[in-house]
Amino acid sequence: GSLTKREPSLTKSEWRKKLTPEQFYVTREKGTEPPFSGSYLNNKAPGMYHCVCCDSPLFSSEKKYCSGTGWPSFSEAHGTSGSDESNTGILRRVDTSLGAARTEVVCKQCEAHLGHVFPDGPGPAGQRFCINSVALKFKPGQP
Ligand SMILES: [Zn+2]
Repeated sequence: GSLTKREPSLTKSEWRKKLTPEQFYVTREKGTEPPFSGSYLNNKAPGMYHCVCCDSPLFSSEKKYCSGTGWPSFSEAHGTSGSDESNTGILRRVDTSLGAARTEVVCKQCEAHLGHVFPDGPGPAGQRFCINSVALKFKPGQP
């Protein structure tokens, strides 16, 4: 499957050629798209959200919900089993860039910055994956 396929990691200038300026800024320079600007914010179609950089499947439409924050929100990553994320396409990293520690979400395969996860989501796990639209590529279909 695509989860086991590994692209050799590209240099920043190679990513810059491969991505649009917005995609490069968010995924490679840990940027954030303006709230309510993302193309997938109100997308309710069934399908899978892939990494825009390496095509790894990351989030399913089944776990997408409207958080009202202005960014696409998911209650868990695709492949999550209970609290086990070892079969998902994402990794968590502590991010202290704004002073307070937040948890950054990156693509496991290519280390693209995707967004952050916050402990104020719905359901028993209570998680809100706050993900930039430009870091994702939606593929409609059965998730
Ligand atoms: Zn990726």
